[in-house]
Amino acid sequence: MRQTKMCPDCSGRKFAVTELKDSDRCRVPVLPPKEGSFEVWICARCGYTALYARNLPQDIEDMARRYPDELRVVDAESGGQGPYR
Ligand SMILES: [Zn+2]
Repeated sequence: MRQTKMCPDCSGRKFAVTELKDSDRCRVPVLPPKEGSFEVWICARCGYTALYARNLPQDIEDMARRYPDELRVVDAESGGQGPYR
């Protein structure tokens, strides 16, 4: 949605963009604490919301090892093993 500037649900082209920080009360549990924040894109027409992680560490496998209860890596770019492992 950020790249296309178009809502995938209603084709709207106007958005409210904000940032969801770790300190916010409704922290999304996907990104472990102190590893970054989320950019939030909200469609002004229908409310569809997309989250984009900011400052994601280069080595997400290392991050997954450090936060095994909060994060897993799905790597479909390596090929051969499919989208799940
Ligand atoms: Zn929309």
